[in-house]
Parts: sequence; C-alpha cells; structure tokens
Amino acid sequence: TATAQTLNFQAEVKQLLHLMIHSLYSNREIFLRELISNASDACDKLRFEALDKAELFEGDGELKIRVDFDKDARTVTITDNGIGMSRDEVVANLGTIAKSGTREFFGQLTGDQQKDAHLIGQFGVGFYSAFIVADKVTVHTRRAGLPAAEGVRWECAMSGDTAGEYSIEPIERAERGTRITLHLREGQDDLLSSWKLKSLISKYSDHIVQPIQMKKEEWDEEKKEQVVRDEYETVNQASALWARPRNEIAEDDYKAFYKHVGHDYDEPLAWTHARVEGRQEYTQLLYVPAHAPFDLWDRNARHGVKLYVKRVFIMDDAEKLMPTYLRFVRGVVDSADLPLNVSREILQESKDIDAIRQGCTKKVLALLESLANSDEAAEKEKYATFWKEFGKVLKEGVGEDFANKEKIAGLLRFASTHADTPDETVSLADYIGRMKEGQDKIYYVTAETFNAARNSPHLEVFRKKGIEVLLLSDRVDEWVTGNLTEFDGKQLVSVAKGGLDLGALEDEAEKKEAEKAADEYKELLEKMKASLGERVKDVQVTLRLTDSPACLVADEHDLGMNLARILKAAGQ
Ligand code: ADP
Ligand code: MG
Repeated sequence: TATAQTLNFQAEVKQLLHLMIHSLYSNREIFLRELISNASDACDKLRFEALDKAELFEGDGELKIRVDFDKDARTVTITDNGIGMSRDEVVANLGTIAKSGTREFFGQLTGDQQKDAHLIGQFGVGFYSAFIVADKVTVHTRRAGLPAAEGVRWECAMSGDTAGEYSIEPIERAERGTRITLHLREGQDDLLSSWKLKSLISKYSDHIVQPIQMKKEEWDEEKKEQVVRDEYETVNQASALWARPRNEIAEDDYKAFYKHVGHDYDEPLAWTHARVEGRQEYTQLLYVPAHAPFDLWDRNARHGVKLYVKRVFIMDDAEKLMPTYLRFVRGVVDSADLPLNVSREILQESKDIDAIRQGCTKKVLALLESLANSDEAAEKEKYATFWKEFGKVLKEGVGEDFANKEKIAGLLRFASTHADTPDETVSLADYIGRMKEGQDKIYYVTAETFNAARNSPHLEVFRKKGIEVLLLSDRVDEWVTGNLTEFDGKQLVSVAKGGLDLGALEDEAEKKEAEKAADEYKELLEKMKASLGERVKDVQVTLRLTDSPACLVADEHDLGMNLARILKAAGQ
C-alpha cells in the first residue's frame, strides 16, 4: 500500500544506537567514512547486477558519490547513483540487525565505555554511525530497475517522542540510488564546511574507487569571500589503490582501504600486496584482520575477498578465491585475464580461478609464516594475536588443503607439558627441537579441557621420563590429529591409544618387569576381563602409569576416547 508507516526498531537496534552514540562520540568523524563506504558498495553492487542486465544503468553508467552541505538547513548529504534500495530492503537493512552473533555481541558488553566502543567497532557500526553526528537521518532511495513511483523515503529521529521509531513512505524518485541526509546535532556545525568535509574525505576515503565529488569552492574577488560554485569537482584520488606501485602507497592508505573492504573499524594485523605475472596475471591485496568477526563460525558466512577484472568490480565475497579455512582473509584480487562478463557459474569451474586461489593461499600462508618466524618481537606478537583469533580456523586447513598440509602444520601452535600452561605457543618444530635422545615420535593427548588433558593419567610415564607431550583440547584437534599423522618425518602418536611403544626410550629393565608382572598376574587379569565382559576388549599390565592404578586405553585403530565422546554428544 502506498501510505506512510511508522515502525519500531528491533530492540537490538535501539540498544546498539544508544551505545554507539555514546561510545564512539570521540571518534565521530568515522560516520562519513562509513556512509561513503556504503555508497561505494552500492555502486559495486549495481555494476555486478548490470553485468547481465545492462538496462539497470538506466542510461547513466558513470557511478559517483557526492557530498553536499547546507549551512542554513544544517544538513550534510551523501548521494550515490548505485543500486539503491527497494522498500523491503530499506526495512531489512536499516531497521534490523541481520548479523549473526548479535546475541553474543550484547552478551560481551561490559559497561566499560572504552571496551564497549572497541566491541561495537568490531561488530560493525556501519550505517548507524550517522547518528553520532545527526539526531535525524532521512534517506531517499530508489532501487535500480524499479519505476520512479517506487522510491522510498525513510526517516528516523533519535530525539523527542519518536526516538526509536522510523517512518517509511513511498515517494516519486526519478534518480536511482540513495541520498542520505544528516540533520546535525547541536555542536556539529564545524562539519558544515567544504574544507572540513574535504579533509575528512581525503583522510578516510581517498582510496574509494568511484569519484567522490563536492561543489567547487572558490575565492570571489568581487565579494571578497569564498563562494560555492554550482559545479562539482572530484576530491579523492578515485583510483584503484591496489593497482598503484607499492612504494607509492603509504601505510595509512593500506589501513584506510582495509577498513573499507574489510567492513572493519579496527586496523588490520598484516597484509600482502603483490602483482603476479606468468600464466595468470593478477594483483592481490590481502589482509589478515586483527580480530575475528562475529560470524567466524558460520562456514556459510560471506567471504571477504572481492574480485575485480581490470579494475572493474565483479563481485563481493567470491568464495572461490579463498579456501574455507582462510575465510577470515579480506581484500581484493584483480585479474587481467578473466572476461569482464564472468558470471558466478563460470567462476565455479574456472581453472583460472583455481590457479588464482592457489596463488592467494600460498601468499597468505607465506605472510603468516613470515610473522611466525620473524625475529622481531612486534611481528611475533602479531602472530600470537593471529593464533588467538584464528588458530582454530586455520587448523581446519590440515584436513582441507592437502597440498599445503605441511605448511599449515608448521603454523600450528599447541599447549604442551613443557610449560604446562594453556597458552598455545609450541610449534611442532619447537617440539622436535626438544625431543629426547632416541625419541622419534611426537606425542599428544586429546581431552575435553586443558585441565583434563594436563591431568590425564596417560601422561604419567611421559612426565617421569621427561618426554614432552602436546596437550590438545580444542574440538577441532581431533580433526587435526585425524588428518595429520606425520610432521617432518615424525609420526604423531596419541598417548592414549594402542600398546604404548616408546621405542628406544623404553627402559629394558622396566620392560622385563612388566612382562614378569603380566605373567604373575595372568589369572587376575583374566578375572578382571571376565567380570568387565563386553565393556572392554582387553585388560593389560602397563608401563604407562606411575601413580594411578589403572587407565582406559583405546585400541590403535579405534576412535580415540575424546572423539568418541564428541561424536556421542553430537548424537552420532
Ligand atoms: P555493511 O556495509 O557492513 O553491510 P552497514 O550498516 O554499513 O553494513 O549497511 C547496512 C546495509 O544497508 C548495507 O549492507 C546495504 O544493504 C544497505 N545500504 C546502506 N547504505 C546504502 C546505500 N547508500 N545504497 C544502498 N544500500 C545501502
Ligand atoms: Mg557499511
């Protein structure tokens, strides 16, 4: 129906808005970056949809973003001729928080302003950051391809009686795309200046690919003052950052660009930028974020690498460009070889894309290696941060990426009996470096928690002999050990499985004693076995234990005890 409607925000939106306005106030300038970033995304989306529907351009293929201000009305306006939004899209995108992890997010808030501001940033402030500087926001929009009569006007005030409500009504709108008008709060008038807005654009949005335009301001000799002309000029570089030579790009440019492509409010942890030549020609600029997004565990969540062909945006979240275990990587790949009208279907089976993915995977793994193996404390620290945030995801790669298995294994970090703390800092190479003379295997124990692993009776003989054991307590560790049976020629062996063969580490005298005991207690063992019946396969005398009287051991080829428990919990 073509009438105005007043709707209420989701409770979460209200809560988020309130928190955001208060927590991010000291960083209020980011609103412009966020709105320009959205305008740019909207242009990208139009370009993508128009690949097989050129009429969406409606005769105007010059995508651009404009920033205007009005001193009298005290407004700042951001306009784009991108994809625009239908009524339903306005309600879905501006009236709700569709992100997964919303509940977890609210659960993590502490009430401490600084910490919460950080969390809000991680969650993504996006469009709502407009309310940091505005107490009323009006959106005029029309989706490309819809008739002019299906324009939409959305408005929301954050003060007065209607705070927490928004209105939505149909309007006539000839131009496609979106215009966002910010009615500034008291005290924000410094934003009503060409100079101020331009400086914010060059500080935060210089790297945006589309031209960002503002009206020209010039000195008028007659009036003896600055006057605004009715003519627009481009105020950003409007060139693809990744296509520029590395030595011409400042650190800050890389960081600013990351915030846009990564939809992140924080700085990236590290990045790699390279031009690849040869059979496939492409440029890659790939970032590792400093923190995990809220939807990291959603394996179907969008992937963060954008695909360009010769600097023309093709698609977002091209899942084919990164393996699942590197789904936290953000950035762009720009191919010189793919056809401009490449479709999702073509991508699915493209050999070129496979080659690009392999190249990108290698690059990211090499970047991680360089952090992990760096002699610089700051870089090492970065790797520790990376491991804390993404280690569990990287572990999936051991079973997923056969070609890079050894490399990924080298990047893994574990807790072990060496330090006996839950900190995951031990690499397999560290472990091998500390192996006892005569030791030829890497020993590990898996359990539900770190403490359960650390206190496992299976460790007794290892502790006694001073042999290090990896203490694994992530769910995914069962997957890791199931897929990684060897590293650097050394077998990985569970201390809780099979007859424990310590090889050269075994003490001949002890072994003799055990054999003697087995003989001596033969009858007792038979009795125990008989009374335990079906529940056990065998009862044996062991060298495993020094203090505990008995422990359960899984057979060599059976499921480990911990895995059996996980599967049972999962109902299998
Ligand atoms: P994000 O950009 O991370 O998706 P935002 O809060 O910034 O989150 O924006 C929410 C959504 O609103 C966007 O995903 C998009 O669908 C929609 N949106 C915002 N601004 C625009 C715009 N200028 N044109 C079209 N859609 C927009
Ligand atoms: Mg956004």
